Amino acid sequence: MRVAKRVENLPPYLFVEISKKIAQKRASGEDIISFAIGDPDTPTPAHIIEKLCQAAQDPVNHHYPESEGLPELRQAIADWYQKRFTVSLDPDTEVLPVIGAKEGIAHIPLCFIDPGDIVLVPDPGYPVYSIGTALAGGESHFLPLTDNYDFLPQYDSIPSDVLQKARLLWVNYPNNPTSAVADLGFFNKTVKFARQNDLAVCHDGPYTEVAFDGYQPVSFMQAEGAKEVGVEFHSLSKSYNMTGWRIGMVVGNATMVDALKRLKSNMDSGIPQAIQYAAITALRGPQECIKEHNDIYQRRRDLVVDLLNDMGLEVKSPKASLYVWARVPEGYNSVDFATDLLEQVGVVVTPGVGYGQNGEGYVRLSLTIPDAGLVKGLSRLSGWRDNKNKFKSKAA
Ligand SMILES: *Cc1c(COP(=O)(O)O)cnc(C)c1O
Repeated sequence: MRVAKRVENLPPYLFVEISKKIAQKRASGEDIISFAIGDPDTPTPAHIIEKLCQAAQDPVNHHYPESEGLPELRQAIADWYQKRFTVSLDPDTEVLPVIGAKEGIAHIPLCFIDPGDIVLVPDPGYPVYSIGTALAGGESHFLPLTDNYDFLPQYDSIPSDVLQKARLLWVNYPNNPTSAVADLGFFNKTVKFARQNDLAVCHDGPYTEVAFDGYQPVSFMQAEGAKEVGVEFHSLSKSYNMTGWRIGMVVGNATMVDALKRLKSNMDSGIPQAIQYAAITALRGPQECIKEHNDIYQRRRDLVVDLLNDMGLEVKSPKASLYVWARVPEGYNSVDFATDLLEQVGVVVTPGVGYGQNGEGYVRLSLTIPDAGLVKGLSRLSGWRDNKNKFKSKAA
């Protein structure tokens, strides 16, 4: 049987490879501690699960859902944006629930990209931006995110022949994997740049609620004119520990929302209604869980950042997101370093190059690791450092 080129040419999904490696090691009896995967380790808050169970019992919710989502859910999303960001959205035309942000992100290029069109994609970046582009027959032009520009794309350095063919622009703050944040000034600049070049902006913002030290990330939708040029993908996954339930949303430009709605109504039949009711409860219910989760991550962040700095890796303490983005020690590239940690001390980190060429020289550590594992993992990392120092002083 012949597999189509579009699938044949897909790179293996980064985390699938990492999970396989971890599973192999564990199967052979090794105790592996993984800082690799960004999936909240604490459960979905109880009041949300209660609603989910209750809704699952109701036969009304046993049927095909509408692909555009329950009107009550769209209203809850609009109200949440109003309350959290003072952004007004029309729940009928500017809000669409998706089966997790990843689903919407993977599919939206099919709505705006014809073969040969270019998509502007951050590098390093969430792999789905470029993979969705490739599946639609488009080409990714990568925008380097580097430390000297605070991991923000430099729009003025994009060649004009690229801009002429560019249709979509991906932006993602708080950023995965670099954990960089953007302010409203940057988003205003992005709107202006999109207008000048007739680009549709897709802002991916699943981490606006994961932030520390009282910092409150902004939404792209708060930028002046954002709705005229773009949409924002958001998700219940990271805000409410709901990765397993698969529910997110896209909001903003009505033409873009409608195009994705038309595509999706021919592909899927929406999100199970019990999960939609759980999402309504998450968005409308008590929000203390967000602060509780962030307090946990903030404490872990401090432990991880202190130790890595102690190890001589260059790390900035992130203001938001679930990640610490650390420079690898001199003499290593990101894969060598990740491999060395796995082989020497049984600790998994994600090599930065997996997120793009400009991720080379970095590794990503996720803060979604239960405290006991985190402490053990950190002590192994200091063991790695002490070993290296021993080795160094022997060599000297
Ligand atoms: C986790 C994540 C998503 C996907 O979220 P889901 O709603 O669970 O699909 C999208 N973008 C980025 C950058 C992420 O880190």
